[in-house]
Amino acid sequence: MSYSIAIDGPAGAGKSTIAKRIAKELSFIYVDTGAMYRAMALHFIKKGIDPSDGEKIAAECARADISIEYRNGEQVVLLDGEDVTDRLRTEEAGKMASATSVYPQVRRKLVELQRKLAASANVVMDGRDIGTCVLPGAQLKIYLTASAHTRAERRYAELRAKGEHISLEKIEQDIMDRDARDMNREYAPLRQAEDAVLIDSSDLTIEEVVEKILELAGK
Ligand code: C5P
Repeated sequence: MSYSIAIDGPAGAGKSTIAKRIAKELSFIYVDTGAMYRAMALHFIKKGIDPSDGEKIAAECARADISIEYRNGEQVVLLDGEDVTDRLRTEEAGKMASATSVYPQVRRKLVELQRKLAASANVVMDGRDIGTCVLPGAQLKIYLTASAHTRAERRYAELRAKGEHISLEKIEQDIMDRDARDMNREYAPLRQAEDAVLIDSSDLTIEEVVEKILELAGK
């Protein structure tokens, strides 16, 4: 049976950096589920769909062809056969993903893909609903969080490094809005699973969090 580590938490808590490191240490596959919601968002952007139009979202989501491949150990996301990995991490895609991940049709389609990946290999999977909904039987569940201010500062540094200039206040407000949407949506809201270990990374280095999780995994 495959071994799954689920890492959930709000945007900017460091989930992807940490999940990638753990996957590398354990020779597991890293599954970035946010990237799938972002790829779906790119599809909606391409089709010019208003995120509040539930009917169109449901119809178009069935048409979107999203698949995952691994190249040199890195997750590659294909949308209609085209590699869109480098286009997923923009503010526009993030906003659209957050607004459209509330729809059950979108979630059902992507959860199916996520479960297939976890059934076929040992995975470290990060997202919002992995421990509570996608993989309730995961052997280790982590709920990774940090204060909104710390998360905004990290995101600010990341965007500046990429040459995008958005004020820290705006980023913090966006983070709080996104948290509220993720935590208050009807389907699979972001919350800590009862059997998840809570880690607050506000005052921890990446190294410290990685070590803690490896220790919990008994590896
Ligand atoms: O983690 P990331 O910022 O890439 O996720 C983009 C958006 O996708 C999140 O704001 C969230 O609304 C949605 N998401 C989700 N469930 C997941 C992963 C991401 O609803 N498992």
